[in-house]
Amino acid sequence: MSCARARQADAVLSMVTDRFDAATIRALPRLGVISNLAVGVDNIDLAAATRAGVAVGHTPGILTETTADLAFALLMAAARRIAEGDRYVRGGRWRTWGPKVMLGRDVHGATLGIIGWGAIGQAMARRAAGFGMRVLYLPGPHATRSGRSDSLARASVTADLPAPVPVSLERLLADSDFVSLHVPLTSETRHMIGASEFAMMKRTAILINTARGAIVDRDALTGVLRAGRLAGAGLDVTDPEPIGPNDPLLRLPNVVITPHIGSASHATRLKMAELAVDNVIDVFEGRHPRHCANPTVRLRWRERRPDTAGEET
Ligand code: NAP
Repeated sequence: MSCARARQADAVLSMVTDRFDAATIRALPRLGVISNLAVGVDNIDLAAATRAGVAVGHTPGILTETTADLAFALLMAAARRIAEGDRYVRGGRWRTWGPKVMLGRDVHGATLGIIGWGAIGQAMARRAAGFGMRVLYLPGPHATRSGRSDSLARASVTADLPAPVPVSLERLLADSDFVSLHVPLTSETRHMIGASEFAMMKRTAILINTARGAIVDRDALTGVLRAGRLAGAGLDVTDPEPIGPNDPLLRLPNVVITPHIGSASHATRLKMAELAVDNVIDVFEGRHPRHCANPTVRLRWRERRPDTAGEET
């Protein structure tokens, strides 16, 4: 987005590719709301927006199931070598049926470790239940305070399957056949999965990342995949995005990469667009956005409009 074009804007409808750092926010004196077409808001300096009185809207909830569908599709694709098999066929290498051709890993009965036990992580667990997988999860930092993780864990399983089990990160990494990332990108989660975490994982494990690329140390990931210390990866997000054409990950057959399309279904993108617009309208009408990533913000927009000032407490 051109900062010059946005200078007169009261609201910005932003994409995850638009960066709003403190300097950019300071340079937009009229801005009342940044409405992000995403649930993640790591492209926006939330503290700077809050200081400036700029509300940040986002689109949680409505993209949960669609993103979990894609995460599970990547898990299946990496386990059963779908993209590799497709390249094999198109490349004219399919000569005959062979007992050792394109052997992959079983998904049913395997153990799935979920890092990020929020909306999408739990939607992933529901899919895993259908495949008879055992689910381990890392409780979030607010799990104890709210009790949210445990109650949702009990609610999300079918009667004949064991409940998802809360475990430490070390245990999750050591015991899982698939590790799926669903945490937001924050200063705590940046490079949360690096060389020492990969060293704890099974050599036969597969990493799925539909959260944000920078949660994983890219060089460490490339190293373990190349060395055969990790069986494969399914990535919808990379660091950087888009991934460079010469990135070594693109030369590894055991990696499936999609171009950040987790929420990209016709129906979900329409809902996201509607919610992003509603978030803007809320601010124009003097309220916080209905889905506000910085709910403590004191709205600059309301203070500029004496007719609405003081309406909302
Ligand atoms: P959510 O409901 O807020 O869940 C995030 C979970 O991560 C929460 O349970 C939170 O725990 C946990 N968490 C945060 N920091 C943690 C840490 N340091 N250690 C362990 N757990 C931690 O969000 P969501 O809707 O599931 O979305 C998750 C992320 O997916 C988004 O932030 C976004 O980056 C990504 N995403 C990607 C796509 C795509 O197109 N690929 C689409 C949608 C979303 P607490 O509840 O205890 O705080």
